[in-house]
Amino acid sequence: MAGVALLSVQALVYFGVMSALLRARKTYGVGLFVCALGVMHFLETYLAAVFFIELPFGLLSPGSTVLFSGKLMMFLLLYIREDAETVRQPIYGLLIGNMLLVVLALILRFHSDVVQMPGYAPDLKFLDQIGTLMVWGTLLLFVDCILLILIYERLSRVFARNVVASAFIGSAIVLSFDQLAFFPVLHWVTGTPFEALTGGWVAKVGAAALYSLLMGFYLVVLEPAAEPRRPRPIRDVFQALTYRSRYEDLLERAHTDELTGVKNRAAFEQLRRDWLERPAIDARPVAVAMADVDRFKEINDEGGHDAGDAVLRALGRALEAHLRDGDLVFRYGGEEFALLLRGVGRQEAVDVAERLRLAVAEDVAKACGRQVTMSVGVATSNFGGGDLRDLVAKADKRLYEAKRLGRDRVVGETG
Ligand code: GH3
Ligand code: MG
Ligand code: MG
Repeated sequence: MAGVALLSVQALVYFGVMSALLRARKTYGVGLFVCALGVMHFLETYLAAVFFIELPFGLLSPGSTVLFSGKLMMFLLLYIREDAETVRQPIYGLLIGNMLLVVLALILRFHSDVVQMPGYAPDLKFLDQIGTLMVWGTLLLFVDCILLILIYERLSRVFARNVVASAFIGSAIVLSFDQLAFFPVLHWVTGTPFEALTGGWVAKVGAAALYSLLMGFYLVVLEPAAEPRRPRPIRDVFQALTYRSRYEDLLERAHTDELTGVKNRAAFEQLRRDWLERPAIDARPVAVAMADVDRFKEINDEGGHDAGDAVLRALGRALEAHLRDGDLVFRYGGEEFALLLRGVGRQEAVDVAERLRLAVAEDVAKACGRQVTMSVGVATSNFGGGDLRDLVAKADKRLYEAKRLGRDRVVGETG
């Protein structure tokens, strides 16, 4: 009993200090929390290898029970109050830092002139053992963290607002997996007896229970959320945790027009280059439609720039809504949009543009309470390749023709 009490006290002290550091991140930055978390890792591996206590249910290591389980919970807590983009930093930092530590320890082994200090001898066998455990434990920790966050995210949909239930079930699953995966290597390297397998498992599940309760207390009392967390698709979380999303996110943001949310001119230029480099990008015919709002200056002059912006936003939404799958819309310039229509012949392209013109006028009228029309010029190429710039130039000419003919119309290929 005294052993359980001692472990609980350790866990409480650990959680108390770490959660205070987490809470303080808004004032002092998240570095305090993350650095303190990282520092524990060496002690934890050392304890997990050699420091055991005996309880009625078996042998267990306070290093694994208190520090390792606690660290996983801290990662989860950081994820819940921040996001995947934040928590992935210490997850990768620990992975890389621990591997570096093992490599440096390996290099140390090549010193042949180690001086024997009185009363001490460098324990090289132990250094090797710890190295092996570090590599395996670190890889497992990496998998554990990602697994725990994904399982938690999944469970939090089932248990809606019950963070304690989600945290407990998630961490009990992951810590059980960890125990099963870590123990064989521990046994192989240090000869730890099998009583430690079950003892350690019971202790870790117990730790999961205590930490989940503490986490609940933290999330509800110490740092309640201003608004409920919106669940994020598991795939998204995984992509973010493994740094897959970063590049695509940046590209996406760089290629999106801030005002209207449709693709921007840079995205069009990128597509144009791809089109030139890979002529077979699309074997079907392709059409470009250039659409320009009629008398847009008047909207700006009458309602101010904000009214103009609102019309552009409604226009972007309407175009996206009525476009067929696979077609693309770009904000080409101020109030000019370029549409890329795929797989349409000459007449069909004009029909699609005509349908869009009517549908968009209706949507924008509903959204902005005013009649807004646009003129459209369409150009078609009956093979998929070629320079889109030629199509844009042709479509532009027809757009001006549409303006000249009185606006609010589509002009396509004649003859
Ligand atoms: P037309 O029928 O001949 O196209 O007449 P128009 O008034 O639309 O003429 P034009 O195309 O020359 O005018 C475009 C106007 O769009 C000028 C510019 O001030 C405005 N504009 C461009 N970008 C933005 C924007 O982001 N927001 C707002 N509110 N206005 C913009
Ligand atoms: Mg205009
Ligand atoms: Mg214009």
